[in-house]
Amino acid sequence: MSTLNLEPITFPGLENKRPMIISGPCSAETEEQTLATAKELAAIGVKIFRAGIWKPRTRPGAFEGVGTVGLPWLKRVKEETGMFVGVEVATSHHVFEAVKHGMDMVWVGARTSANPFAVQEVADALKGLDIPVFVKNPVNPDLELWIGALERINGAGITKLAAIHRGFSTYDKSEFRNHPQWQIPIELHRRLPNLPIISDPSHIGGKRDLIAQLCQEAMDLNFDGLIIESHTCPEKAWSDASQQITPARLKEILDRLVLRSSKIGDTPRNELDELRKRIDQLDNQLLDTLKERMFVSEAIGRYKYDNNITILQSRRYDEIMKDRRDRAESRGLDSEFITSIFETIHEESISRQSLVMNKELK
Ligand code: PEP
Ligand code: MN
Repeated sequence: MSTLNLEPITFPGLENKRPMIISGPCSAETEEQTLATAKELAAIGVKIFRAGIWKPRTRPGAFEGVGTVGLPWLKRVKEETGMFVGVEVATSHHVFEAVKHGMDMVWVGARTSANPFAVQEVADALKGLDIPVFVKNPVNPDLELWIGALERINGAGITKLAAIHRGFSTYDKSEFRNHPQWQIPIELHRRLPNLPIISDPSHIGGKRDLIAQLCQEAMDLNFDGLIIESHTCPEKAWSDASQQITPARLKEILDRLVLRSSKIGDTPRNELDELRKRIDQLDNQLLDTLKERMFVSEAIGRYKYDNNITILQSRRYDEIMKDRRDRAESRGLDSEFITSIFETIHEESISRQSLVMNKELK
């Protein structure tokens, strides 16, 4: 079924234990910080070390990574801890430098995988190399673009390939930095069942406190591994400070992970579980949306109070109901079902508005 030519990702001497754990700082900042973090990680049994050397930043002026000077630090990590090391690559220059300095793996970042020209450049630079490559999902929720990036890298002869799910950028307010939209990696797995998928709870959550639950969620969905940002002193990190955790905290999280099957590597992902998980996610989104809608209703209540406008305005109500019914129909949803939902929502909005107005009156 897979259209990719894949081989398992193996690191010499490292048995293929699930979940595969990759950890390290968002950015290599100094030689000391890189080495210190690596040693603490090695002490808790982490075998694959990550660190960003070239950092694609949203706005200029933020810390853009130390660049090539950091690569010998990673080489030291490798020599002194025995860990395998990897960096993000976004250009052919990055690939050449990474390989020259003995990186054991590389990953393509979310901003890069959104750009086919950049992915092709990286793919061309990887030609002839036998190195594991991890491809993050593009920042936008576009499965075809993600698969396209994987195909480009695979087309260059890279067979040790994995996907990293790091969530999707959204303008909506959400508890996540990048919305997980689990249905997208699930669909990726359906389309390419032999492709390992690693979860990146650090970039999904954006906050330390969310890492544990996101790791568990990824394990419940039978992801193949986790890539988690860690730092000896997370609050002082030069990039992504709010989402990094100490190696000690990482150990706690990993120790508490519940793996659903002792033979998890042999168990095919259970489709029913995945569908149920998707329902849970969608319901959560519905709840977030409802919460936001009630918040806006209350703001309307305050406006009406300040401007002496009555709560119920039947023309607006009729318009809303007609509009929602039309939109429902165009999506193939039953119009009676939608009418009853919106009647209930409207009722609650009205009662929220009157609560607000009564409070203002007091
Ligand atoms: C990173 O891994 O530090 C990184 C920049 O991630 P992403 O490409 O997912 O934003
Ligand atoms: Mn980061």
